[in-house]
Amino acid sequence: MQTNFSIAQLADPDVAESEKILRKCVHCGFCTATCPTYVTLGNELDSPRGRIYLIKDMLENGRAADKEIVTHIDRCLSCLACMTTCPSGVNYMHLVDHARAHIEETYKRPLLDRLTRAMLAFVLPYPARFRAALKLAKLGKPFIGLFEKVPALKPLGAMLRLAPASIPAASPMASPGVHAGQGAKKGRVAILTGCAQSVLDPAINDTTISLLRRLGVEVVVPPGEGCCGALVHHMGREDAALASARQNVDAWTRAIEQGGLDAIIITASGCGTTIKDYGFMLRLDPAYADKAARVSALARDITEYLAAFDLPEPVRSPGTVVAYHSACSMQHGQKITRQPKELLAKAGFIVREPREGHLCCGSAGTYNILQSEISARLRDRKVKNIEATGASIVATGNIGCITQIASASKMPVVHTIKLLDWAYGGPKPDGIPEERLFAAE
Ligand code: SF4
Ligand code: SF4
Repeated sequence: MQTNFSIAQLADPDVAESEKILRKCVHCGFCTATCPTYVTLGNELDSPRGRIYLIKDMLENGRAADKEIVTHIDRCLSCLACMTTCPSGVNYMHLVDHARAHIEETYKRPLLDRLTRAMLAFVLPYPARFRAALKLAKLGKPFIGLFEKVPALKPLGAMLRLAPASIPAASPMASPGVHAGQGAKKGRVAILTGCAQSVLDPAINDTTISLLRRLGVEVVVPPGEGCCGALVHHMGREDAALASARQNVDAWTRAIEQGGLDAIIITASGCGTTIKDYGFMLRLDPAYADKAARVSALARDITEYLAAFDLPEPVRSPGTVVAYHSACSMQHGQKITRQPKELLAKAGFIVREPREGHLCCGSAGTYNILQSEISARLRDRKVKNIEATGASIVATGNIGCITQIASASKMPVVHTIKLLDWAYGGPKPDGIPEERLFAAE
């Protein structure tokens, strides 16, 4: 695509980066066919190509964002299916991240939208605040219907609808410390404790630590680590996202210096995509660029780490039929496609892949709160495809997808690591009736 940026505009490194991305796009439109919002809404401006044109026009003319571009960029899930499809290697992720930061700087949203976004940024990345908010949400549940009738209050209704009926107790294993491996030492890793996942389902990381320990891997929970920054990053709040990135880079750099790390283990693929991008996000900060690149290079999804590990034979062979839902951040963001399925199959599960596996479930960070109608359409489509597999359980590697799919399906939805842990000698995952684990088709 031809671009017309001035020399002065290109002096801004973010504009220069976006210009390089724009020039790669050849307008072929292959990406439209796999874009969930184009497939759902059928509007070119809600396709990757349409959004690329809108972003180009805004940046090239040095214009403030207007209502039209904000509408279509807000509808983008950042699922990155377009990047998987694009034959020209257009880095849509960095382009839309830049556009979102530009919107945040130049566009004044309506008051209620601003308040909702400020509240999400204040609450979600902080486990103690999120836990308190979920307790409060119980009081608001009777008013869901009322909130959903008022357009400006729909996000509040969506939030209350997604809030779980009960909140598990915080896990002591998430506190800073070292969990020694059992037997001969096979490795040393850090684990991201994260934010929302540690409140909604602390057993995901507990199970991961337990399995790694049994495999002889020492697991460090470094003091000072926190939210990866993805939630605010996707809202265009660059300063907050970079502050989170720096905080984590500092925490993991200390852990590297104190004993070395083979990997930084991440159990939520949405976080993994962002942490693997820290090197890019902090490339212009001389104090952090190298350290951030080192952290990104060490980041591994738990299934990526286990797939490269010399695993023993599983203790059990369940024979259960599992529908594997590949989170967008897993398959498109990190290009991890075969490892989770192969691990499940090796552990004795029968793995089925739902139709339209490339399409997002509509979770996408805060998308199911801020764009609840499109999100619900995508969720229902996803659940229908998953249930058509005839599987007994759904496995996936991202807490957002777990919450989203479970909100509309009677099937148990579990993190992949819980099934692997069970097959390798751990306890039966909570929430799954015994017969489901043993009942083959
Ligand atoms: S597939 Fe790639 S090159 Fe083609 S229109 Fe989409 S982004 Fe541009
Ligand atoms: S990130 Fe997803 S929703 Fe956004 S343009 Fe690409 S395919 Fe469409």
